[in-house]
Amino acid sequence: QTDPGEPFGPHSRQHTTPVMIGKVQVGGSAPVVVQSMTNTDTANVASTTKQVAELWRAGSELVRVTVNTAEAAAALPRIVDKLAMMGIEVPIIGDFHYNGHTLLANEPACAEALAKYRINPGNVGFGKKKDTQFAQLIEFAVRYDKPVRIGANWGSLDQALATQLMDENHLRAQPWDAGRVLREALIRSALDSAHRAVELGLPAERIILSAKVSGVQELIAVYRELARRSDFALHLGLTEAGIGSKGIVASSAALSVLLQEGIGDTIRISLTPEPGASRTQEVIVAQELLQTMGLRAFTPMVTACPGCGRTTSEFFQELAGTVQEHVRARMPEWKIQYPGAENMTLAVMGCIVNGPGESRHANIGISLPGTGEAPSAPVFEDGQKTVTLRGEGIAQEFLGIIDAYVAR
Ligand code: SF4
Repeated sequence: QTDPGEPFGPHSRQHTTPVMIGKVQVGGSAPVVVQSMTNTDTANVASTTKQVAELWRAGSELVRVTVNTAEAAAALPRIVDKLAMMGIEVPIIGDFHYNGHTLLANEPACAEALAKYRINPGNVGFGKKKDTQFAQLIEFAVRYDKPVRIGANWGSLDQALATQLMDENHLRAQPWDAGRVLREALIRSALDSAHRAVELGLPAERIILSAKVSGVQELIAVYRELARRSDFALHLGLTEAGIGSKGIVASSAALSVLLQEGIGDTIRISLTPEPGASRTQEVIVAQELLQTMGLRAFTPMVTACPGCGRTTSEFFQELAGTVQEHVRARMPEWKIQYPGAENMTLAVMGCIVNGPGESRHANIGISLPGTGEAPSAPVFEDGQKTVTLRGEGIAQEFLGIIDAYVAR
């Protein structure tokens, strides 16, 4: 039986080795860091700089860009310079596959400008070249004093390792299914590569691990095992999560289980943007996931009822959206002027049934009139009714009350 008086909330964070990426700490006792990735052609300096700036303004504390060609590598230092001129010092992570060793060798300015290198052990090279090219990448990280993420991925699993494990398990007749062997191959790929990097001279304080898969249950199993078997800081993400609500739900389901268990030091929500949707959506989802779990606070959260037959107009739904947009837009300014505003809670409710009660639990709440109710909207501040709004200007007046509350 559950004791309702028991403390609840996430387990304490699992101990990991802290890693500095520029000025941002990942792991150790640092708060879980939000990161994102651009989808522009990195060789296009203008569009990539613009998108990095958008992601940063939305709250991405680290931004990864693909570095896949000589042109992209050459553009990278110019992107970092332009961002600095705009007053944006977000650490930029270079995502390398296949040719990272060559690009870093040919573009020292890129190697220097990046704050971290992402290395996929399944895509470093093939056959005999694999070990050499991996060693070259680590050598650059050592030479330029950069951290790396060893990022294994289900979609680019080290096939030689997977085959070896399959053979070993077949020969030993262990009752492992293929899925379990492949999960082990993914975990081993990340861990073995990290240990090899340490042997090559890169300290554990500069290594972050990830092992991404696209299935929720597999991801949870893989990360529990990674956390059990190492102290490396962990980057969480459900790869290829998908589009729209499916991507959001799948990522949130997987990451929330792990975060609740204290696993994960930085997260990325990999969403396929819907046509016309902003890339910043994945940053907002990551922030909301951490905030609704009580792990961090980024912007005031709005509680709103779903509405029902008691709500006569769409005004109430519009007001909930307007209030959320308003506080999100004001937050960058409030963050500087009124630290702590991000912890504020708001309620926008559709009728008297739950409206006043929920509004009293929030810092500021409004209960709009439902069907058959008097056309008035009581406002509550810190549990006390302070004013009743009426007429056309309810939305503007309520936003004014929020601003005044924050300023106080
Ligand atoms: Fe319906 Fe009122 Fe409940 Fe909102 S608070 S869901 S309008 S009964």
